[in-house]
Formats: sequence, structure tokens, C-alpha cells
Amino acid sequence: MPLSSGADLDAAVAAARAALPEWRAVSVIERARRLFTLRQSLDARREDLARSVTTEMGKTIGDARAEVARMIEMVEAACAIPTTMQGRILEDVSRNVDAETVRQPVGVCAAIVPFNFPAMVPFWFLPFAIACGNSFILKPSEQVPLTQQIAFELLDELDLPPGVVNLVNGGREIVEGILDHPGIDAVSFVGSAPVARIVYERAAKAGKRVQALGGAKNHMVVLPDAVIDKTVDGIIGSAFGAAGQRCMAGSVVVTVGEAHDKLMPPLRDAAANLRVGDGLDEDTQLGPVVSEQAKERIVGAIARGVEQGADLALDGRGPEEDSAGCFLGATILDGVEPDSDAVREEIFGPVLSVIAVDSLDDAIDTVNRSRFGNGVSIFTESGASVRRFRHEVQAGMVGVNIGVAAPVAFFPFSGWKDSFLGDLHAHGTDAVDFYTRKKTVTSRWFSSGQGTGPYFVES
Ligand code: NAD
Repeated sequence: MPLSSGADLDAAVAAARAALPEWRAVSVIERARRLFTLRQSLDARREDLARSVTTEMGKTIGDARAEVARMIEMVEAACAIPTTMQGRILEDVSRNVDAETVRQPVGVCAAIVPFNFPAMVPFWFLPFAIACGNSFILKPSEQVPLTQQIAFELLDELDLPPGVVNLVNGGREIVEGILDHPGIDAVSFVGSAPVARIVYERAAKAGKRVQALGGAKNHMVVLPDAVIDKTVDGIIGSAFGAAGQRCMAGSVVVTVGEAHDKLMPPLRDAAANLRVGDGLDEDTQLGPVVSEQAKERIVGAIARGVEQGADLALDGRGPEEDSAGCFLGATILDGVEPDSDAVREEIFGPVLSVIAVDSLDDAIDTVNRSRFGNGVSIFTESGASVRRFRHEVQAGMVGVNIGVAAPVAFFPFSGWKDSFLGDLHAHGTDAVDFYTRKKTVTSRWFSSGQGTGPYFVES
């Protein structure tokens, strides 16, 4: 994949700016119709998109198909734009004076996205941005640039005015070009926490609207009354799905009281039995991690966890690690100290840390000590415990007896703390707020037609 130059970025921005007047003038109903067409063409290429995701990123084909389903769901949510983009009006804010708020596009919007969801994460932004009448520039991860080539082939077939959607490729240099470019009005970022902070500060300094979704360390709390087999299924999917490379991956289990001894044997067995291999093989349950560097980083994190006192309940650095390719088995670190790196730092690999505590209070405290606040789950049959947990836990997305509580397209993806910098989150109605500027008009009219004629007629 050629890396885009600064001149390529300038050309993309110029095209995007030039497209704005024409695209904005296309009726909102027609913009929605184009998205309906896009939905159909993505649906027709579902399997190609999924195979591309697995080939370039490594997750299992089943997981990739689920990702593409979520990608398409984003387009479906954006099709509601004639309803979701509506403004508000209030008559008679003063005598014969009305106030109305309308929503208008922001301008040229860019998104910078990570490697772990090559199909879906770009579509947290693109369909909503163009539905609102903006033009759009996407910068995929340089580790997975291919899947969006397919999406852009389909976008090309929509007969949009030239420049409404644009694709640039590259890494840090092109990102910095986007952040500083005077022709770009809004930036969305998804990636690791340190880069999210750089993007947030630099884009804000340049006066751009910005939302920056960062890393995570998601905890899963298990109470003694949890339904163990279902809990094990939820934890396994959450911790080891996409080889732990999800911002909503559950990477820490917090067991309360006797939940530890009930959970650990079946959890360990299920993790040890995951079939590791090529993600394109339908029987594979745990695909490779994204790169050699990622593998080395994860292996280092496991060693550090053991050095810092964890009990290696399951070691994924087995034969898989020695094979060609970036394979690792599932690892479970038990008895992890709450302040150790295995709990504090995002590992972003198939590594699960386990902390045992005595009470729900301790579990909530453990969760809330994290600097991240993306997702959290609780496994229990107690409604009262769930109510307290939901009320007190400091995270933006909460699962109840669900491992990965990633919101569907119609709700916002709402991380807290270091997992999110900004105000408006991705997708749901937040997307319409992010991709529109509000204009409030206060008006009165003097010619006849106004007045206080009889409205309430006696019958
Ligand atoms: P990353 O931060 O390395 O890269 C993300 C994007 O930033 C890429 O497009 C990359 O080209 C660019 N980039 C990388 N380093 C840069 C730098 N120094 N300056 C400017 N741009 C730079 O993240 P990644 O490894 O691709 O993705 C994994 C991370 O993304 C994890 O931390 C994960 O938790 C996070 N993530 C978060 C969410 C969320 O919703 N909060 C969703 C998915 C992934």
C-alpha cells in the first residue's frame, strides 16, 4: 500500500472542500437513499469484506463476519438521518417571536482509526458524517489498509459528488498533517491512549472539533451466584475473541468470595482448549495477533506479570509461540496484585488477569481504581447487586451477564476517563451532534398575518 504524501493529503482536503456546497444541497432524503444503496452493496460483499478483515488483521472468520454485520448496522443507523437530524422550534418565546434550532454540516471531517476493526471502526464515522452533509477523509491503520479499499470501491459506485469521501494512507506523518491542516474542521480518532491524547490536544489547539477514543482495561466482576457455565462462555469470548485485541476485551476478572474457586477450573479448561490457528479456518477459535512486534510485547507483558507475583494458571507461550506466524495461546494470570502492570496497563493480547476480592464493594473499588473507563461487566443473578454496580461503577459501557457490551449502532460508544477524550461519543445520536453545528434563529414578522386573532373557537 503506498503511503500518501503531504501533497496527496492537500489534494484530498481540496477535493473535500470543493464537494461541500454540492453535497450539502443534495436533499437529506436523497442522502439517506445513497446510504440505503451502500447498505445493499456492502451486504452483497459481506463475505469479501470479512475475509479481507481476517487476512489482514488475523481475527477468526466468524468474528470478522460479526464485525462486518456491525459495519452494516452503522449504515442502517445513518439511514435514519431525515429523522435524527431534525431541529427544534418553539413558538412565542416572546410575543410573536419564535425560536428555532437547525442542524447544519460541520464541513470537512476526518477520521484516524486503529488496526483492530478494519471494517467497523471507520464506519463508526463515515456514514454519519456524509449523511449529515459533510465531506469526509479516512485514514485507516497502516497495519490494515486493505478492507477499506473494498468499502471505497462500493462508495465509488454511489455516484457521490467527487470529493465527498476520500482515503489517505500512512502513519504518524499523515496523522500530523490531518491534525494541523487548516482545511479540516473536525477529527475523530480511535486508537491507543497516548496517541488519543496527542490527537486531542493538537487538533483542539488547531481549533478543530475533536473526539478521541483511547485504550482500555475492561474488568469483569463475577459474584458467587453467577451462572458459571454462561459466565465462562462470556469471559472466554471477551478475553480471547480477536486474540484480546479489542478495546472492549475483558482483560481483568474480579472474583468475589467463593466465585474464584467455582470459576477458575472451568475457565482454565475452556481457555486451554481454544483451537489456535489460521483465522480463515472455520474451526479456529483463536487467531494470531497482528504483528511480530505485538507478539513480542505481549510475551514481555506475561513475563512481567509473573515477575510481579502472578500465578501463571495458563501459559499461552507454548508451541504456538514457536510456530511460524504471530500465534499465541490463551494465558491466564491468577492472583494478580491490583497495582501490578498486568492490571494497570493495556496488554492488547490473549492474556487474562484474575484478582480475588471479598465483597462487591471491593470489586467496585478495584474497577474504579483503573485510569481507564471503557467497558465493564458483572455476572450475577442478583438484581440488587447489579443496581448498585451500575450506579457506582466508573465506566461508560456496562454489561450485565454479557462479556462484551459494545453498544449497537443506535446508541453511543461511550468510554470514560482515559478511554475517551472529548464530549460527543461515536455513533448513535451523538454522531449527529458531532457531525452538525447548531444554528438558532429567533424571528418575528411585522406584516399582517401575525396577530392575536381567534384561535380558540367556541363550539
Ligand atoms: P495506535 O494508537 O497505535 O494507532 C491508531 C492510529 O493512530 C493509526 O491510524 C496510526 O497510524 C496512528 N498513530 C499511531 N501512532 C501515532 C503517533 N505517534 N502519532 C500520530 N498518529 C499515530 O493504535 P492501534 O495499535 O492501531 O490500535 C489499538 C489501540 O486502539 C488499543 O489501545 C485499543 O484499546 C484502541 N482502541 C480503542 C477503541 C475505543 O473505542 N476506545 C476502539 C478500538 C481500538
